[in-house]
Amino acid sequence: MRRDANAGTRVEQQEKSAREGAGYGRSSVRQYLTVKRKLRSSKPVWMAYPRHFPRAKRLKQDLETDVLVVGAGISGALIAYTLARDGHRVAVVDRRGPVMGSTPASTALLLYEIDIPLIHLKRKLGARPAERAWLRSKAALDALYHLARREKIDAAMSLRPSVYLAGEVLDAHGLANEARARERLGLPSRFLDRHALRARFGLSRSAAIVSDNNVAADPRALASGFLRRAQQLGAQIYAPHEIADIHSRKDTALAMTKDRFTIESRQIVLCTGYEVPKIVPVEGHSIQSTWVIATKTQPKRLWPEECFIWEAANPYLYVRTTIDGRVICGGEDAEFADTGHRDALLNDKAKTLEKKLAIMLPRVDPRPQFAWTASFGQSNTGLPSIGPIPGHSRCYAVLGYGGNGITYSMLAAQLVSAAIGGRRDPDAKLFAFPT
Ligand SMILES: Cc1cc2nc3c(=O)[nH]c(=O)nc-3n(C[C@H](O)[C@H](O)[C@H](O)COP(=O)(O)OP(=O)(O)OC[C@H]3O[C@@H](n4cnc5c(N)ncnc54)[C@H](O)[C@@H]3O)c2cc1C
Repeated sequence: MRRDANAGTRVEQQEKSAREGAGYGRSSVRQYLTVKRKLRSSKPVWMAYPRHFPRAKRLKQDLETDVLVVGAGISGALIAYTLARDGHRVAVVDRRGPVMGSTPASTALLLYEIDIPLIHLKRKLGARPAERAWLRSKAALDALYHLARREKIDAAMSLRPSVYLAGEVLDAHGLANEARARERLGLPSRFLDRHALRARFGLSRSAAIVSDNNVAADPRALASGFLRRAQQLGAQIYAPHEIADIHSRKDTALAMTKDRFTIESRQIVLCTGYEVPKIVPVEGHSIQSTWVIATKTQPKRLWPEECFIWEAANPYLYVRTTIDGRVICGGEDAEFADTGHRDALLNDKAKTLEKKLAIMLPRVDPRPQFAWTASFGQSNTGLPSIGPIPGHSRCYAVLGYGGNGITYSMLAAQLVSAAIGGRRDPDAKLFAFPT
């Protein structure tokens, strides 16, 4: 994953060229809300594990509901579940099908640690907002873990320490400062010097921060599980149907599908992932490309505590294991969104990841059994944008950008459920779209 301090308005430019490439030029009469992207290519490791998927049905007539959720990935799943649990009538619509977007490509290192270090985020946003963002990320991750357990969602979840290695973004001295800042907030992070790092995890770097209680999961199973629970609570899933346009009125919101059904609701929540709705402000966000490999199962060759490993570097390499002992290694991010170019690089990038994995963890057999590539969103603060869409009353959007996308999906469920339920959330402004 990559931190991008200059994302600017790149999403807007990328959407424009994708739109033109997709035949949605100015002369076209077709409506679109989100331009369709090839979100991922080749087979992610999660496809190796059979899972129960929620069943979707086709619309047969126009619909009326309390809340329309657009998108059935992990964000839509958590939001649909939360709103259905709050007692709302919920309809979920997806142009592909349940959990067919970016979520199955995710490596699902569920971290409370935000991509931008706390000490750097304080400089960008000020101390109080940066601390609130970190604390909120921690609270969202804890809530997600406990909710999934309480709901008995079988998503291969386990608590893992994460090890954040010294690199060009933070050297040993920087990591010591970062660890102190986190400890002052009460976050479970500690500094490890070279000796302590080697003794506990067998890793060679000048220093690291170890953070407890991050979570490993199978993202496809997690999203499917929450969608199924939402269905049990009465939510309806309709797919494949594309929402082509939406309108807000005084008392209702209206959505039109490309195949000409109308869905009337009190609220619409757009959870369309990296297919960014054209009506959402995208300043500071960008879409990039990323690559991942996963090895065969090798439980005897793994490292102590099977900690997550990532680097204070830009872009950074990151490593985790699956529940049956495969090693997943991702990174090599590049700052372009072109999916043809992204796909063409898959073999070369997989080889590079294999080499880097071999250097980082010499005991591991680094040969990939799976290699895949995907588009990936970033924001220049590492924070998501979640909340009402300016100028579109009754419409909310969730852009869960960054390496913490799934943690942010849970945060989005908390913020959107509070907003729709008329409850005040003290951090709503921190994550809101600029007006
Ligand atoms: C390779 C990779 C690695 C990652 N690693 C991590 C990680 O380690 N930890 C982490 O927390 N996050 C990670 N992320 C990020 C995380 O996976 C994403 O933030 C998350 O999966 C996005 O979920 P979503 O539901 O928002 O989007 P999606 O899963 O893409 O779902 C959006 C859905 O909206 C639908 N849609 C779009 N437009 C329309 C429309 N007009 N009408 C109807 N339906 C529509 C799409 O078909 C899609 O199914 C990673 C992402 C990638 C790609």
